[in-house]
Amino acid sequence: MAKVILKKGRERSLLRRHPWIFSGAVELADEGIEAGEIVEVVSAGGAVMGYGAYSPLSQIRIRMLSFGHRSIEIGSLIRDRVFAAVARRCDFFVGGYTDAVRLINAESDLLPGVVVDFYAGWAVCQMTSAFADKYKALIADAVMMAAPGCMGVSERLDVDVRAKEGLKVGSFAVLNGEEPPELIEIKEGNCKFLVDVRKGHKTGFYLDQREARAAVGALATNCEVLNCFSYTGGFGVFARANGAEKVTQVDISGDALSLAKKNAELLGLCHINTDFEEADVFKFLRSCRDENRTFDLIVLDPPKFAESKSQVMKAARGYKDINLLAMKLLRPGGYLATFSCSGAMTGDLFDKILMEAAEDAGRDFQIVSRTRQAADHPVLVSFPEGLYLKGVILRAV
Ligand code: SAH
Repeated sequence: MAKVILKKGRERSLLRRHPWIFSGAVELADEGIEAGEIVEVVSAGGAVMGYGAYSPLSQIRIRMLSFGHRSIEIGSLIRDRVFAAVARRCDFFVGGYTDAVRLINAESDLLPGVVVDFYAGWAVCQMTSAFADKYKALIADAVMMAAPGCMGVSERLDVDVRAKEGLKVGSFAVLNGEEPPELIEIKEGNCKFLVDVRKGHKTGFYLDQREARAAVGALATNCEVLNCFSYTGGFGVFARANGAEKVTQVDISGDALSLAKKNAELLGLCHINTDFEEADVFKFLRSCRDENRTFDLIVLDPPKFAESKSQVMKAARGYKDINLLAMKLLRPGGYLATFSCSGAMTGDLFDKILMEAAEDAGRDFQIVSRTRQAADHPVLVSFPEGLYLKGVILRAV
C-alpha cells in the first residue's frame, strides 16, 4: 500500500479524528499515487496514524477513512458504512412524514465526499471527492441494496467542487438500476413537491430545510407570507398548506418559479392565493418598501453569499441589506424566518448582522427559535465544517 508521511506535528488533527489532511501537511508521498487510492498515513515519528483516500489535485490531499494502525479492506468498509448510514435513517422510512431523505451526508457519515439523497425510491448522488468518484459503482451498488424500495441510483456530475478535485464535470448519469422520471413526486408532511433531479439545485430539492419548513408552517395560520428566494416554492407551499391566507413566491429564476407553480397546483386550490414574482429580491423588497406593502411572515433563504472566508465581509453586507429591508416590511407581531447556508458565515456573525439590521430598522425583535440543517444532515463532532445552515426565527415586537 502506498505511504504518505506527514510533517512534524501535523498528525495532531488526526488525533482529534478530523478527516482532512491538507497538502501543506504532507512531507513525503510515494510516487504515482492514483486519484482515490487508499494510502497509509504515517506521522513524522513513524507511527501509522490511519488510512485515507488520496486526492492528488486537491488542497485536501487525503480524506481519512480510519484512524489507528488497523488496516482496512475498502470494499467491506464502504458497504458497511453505506448500510449503517441508511440504517440511521430508518425512522424516516417508517415514520411516513416524508419519502425524501438524505441517506449519506459525506464526511459526517464517514464517507468523505459522498452525498446521496433519496426521492421516493430514486437515489441521487453527488460524488465530490476522488475517493467517492473512484468507488462510485460500489457505493451505488450498496445504496441499491440498502435503501428500501430503491429503483435506481444516479449521479449529478455538474457539482462545482468536482473540478477542484480534478474530476470530470458533466451532467447526469445512471449508476445502477433504472433511469428516474423527469419529475419525481415526493411527500413532506401534508404537502407534495415535484423534484427535478437532473437540473434542480443540489440533487433537486432543499431537504436540509425540512425542519425549518415545518417551523414556518406552524406560524403560517392566517398569515400573508412573503417567501424570498423561493426556488421551487418549498416554504411558501408549506405555509399555504398550513393555513396561510396568501403567499408571494419571489425568485429570479423563471424555471424555479414554474416548478413552484406546479407544486402549488399539486395542493389543489392552493395556487389561487399564491403570487409568483420573477424578480431580484434586493429590488423586490425595495419596491415593497416604496409601495408600503407589509407582511405577517417573511422568509429569507438566499443562496450562499460567501463561498469562502475571504468573501464573508461582502456577504455580510448582502445579508444585512435583505434582513434590514424585510424587518421594515413586517407587521407588528409578524415573523421573519431568516437563513444563511454559507458555511464560512458563523452563527455568531449571522446573529450580529441581525442585531445591526434590527438597530437600523429601529425596531425590537425577539428570537423565537433557531433552526439548523435537518437531522438527516448530521454533523460529525470532529468535523464542525459540516455545519453550514443556520436559521433564526424573529418576531417583531
Ligand atoms: N428557499 C428555497 C431554496 C433557496 S435556493 C427552498 O427552500 O427550496 C436560492 C434561490 O435563490 C434560487 O432559487 C435562486 O434562483 C434564487 N436567487 C438567487 N439570487 C437571487 C436574487 N438576487 N433574487 C431572487 N432570487 C435569487
